[in-house]
Amino acid sequence: MPNRKYYLAHREELLAKDKVRRKRHPPDREKQKRRNRAWYERNRDRLRELSRTPEAKERKRQKSKLYRQRHLGEERARDRARYPDRKEVAFARFKERYRSEPGYRERINADTAAYQREHKDLKKKWGKKYYDSHRDRESQRKKEAYRKNPEVFSARVRRYRESDPERCVELYRKIGDLRRTRERGAVGWYTRAQWMARVSFYGWKCYYCRVALTLKTLTRDHRIPLSRGGSAWPSNLVPACKKCNCSKHTRTEREFLQLKAAA
Ligand SMILES: [Zn+2]
Repeated sequence: MPNRKYYLAHREELLAKDKVRRKRHPPDREKQKRRNRAWYERNRDRLRELSRTPEAKERKRQKSKLYRQRHLGEERARDRARYPDRKEVAFARFKERYRSEPGYRERINADTAAYQREHKDLKKKWGKKYYDSHRDRESQRKKEAYRKNPEVFSARVRRYRESDPERCVELYRKIGDLRRTRERGAVGWYTRAQWMARVSFYGWKCYYCRVALTLKTLTRDHRIPLSRGGSAWPSNLVPACKKCNCSKHTRTEREFLQLKAAA
């Protein structure tokens, strides 16, 4: 290319000349714009065709990637600022991609799993926070999942039951107890640890007849029954043998002790 060679050899000189010429005859910007526009109109289809080739798309992707890397701070701020408006759209697009793009789902799931492995404590915290703020939706989701695949759930329960049978019995009793608490409009709840602490405190003996108890014979008595306005707070719970618990029935602790003293 002789022209290029000439240009490179005389670059300074040519640029100076050009500068002078521009000063003398300032370029007509409007005319330039019109000319560019006309050229674009004439070549629009061809340009569009060109920009659709895979190479062009790849070039564009690389370019915007580079731009993003160079302006990461600003770009992030911009994304964050416009996220609330675009949330729905962004989520819909993500869902569509997750559903249909080959390999995308696997990649996302692997990334998520890796992240969760690295941040176990966060997962626990966020899981709870998420659950608390989506309680209805989550329980709906779980019910739906159970309806579709009950055997998965029962297998999971079976595994858990086999791994720690005693704890399971205790857990079921507690669930039933808390359900009855709610049904009777009573307040309060307790953890297994709190209940076990109560049992230990009373020396694994029936609160009323002092007979020794085991995990199998242990029952939970409400000193003031739920039906009489008692709560399910740990302070209202005492260990009792089955016999005492049944004969106490809906009496309060005081009424039952008086009855026993009279007998
Ligand atoms: Zn007893």
